[in-house]
Amino acid sequence: MFNIPKDKEVPLGCVTPAPVTEQPMMITGNWREYRPVLEPEKCDLCMNCVVFCPDACFQLDEAEEMVVLNEKYCKGCNICINECATNALTEAYELDFEDGVVRLETPF
Ligand code: SF4
Ligand code: SF4
Repeated sequence: MFNIPKDKEVPLGCVTPAPVTEQPMMITGNWREYRPVLEPEKCDLCMNCVVFCPDACFQLDEAEEMVVLNEKYCKGCNICINECATNALTEAYELDFEDGVVRLETPF
């Protein structure tokens, strides 16, 4: 977490929700070299990953009471991992996943 002096604090403006429909021109998941991987048992639902992700890739699944990652729009910047205080998120090499990035199939 940031240690912001009181006189420099600003209120959170908004959280931009992830696209509710497919936005092919906004897909950045194929940029990713590393994928954030969640260990649910370590997650305390602090919502840092939801707030700090610049692409609003993490959303709260209220029914399941857990955060879920929309991998299509996750570019692998690792901000969420750095902001996760409980180490519930770790990075894993993308090409180790069977469904690894589509960067070779979908050039931009
Ligand atoms: S790695 Fe970056 S883009 Fe992906 S979920 Fe984390 S903060 Fe968002
Ligand atoms: S930042 Fe970490 S602990 Fe907080 S909700 Fe996200 S995964 Fe869970």
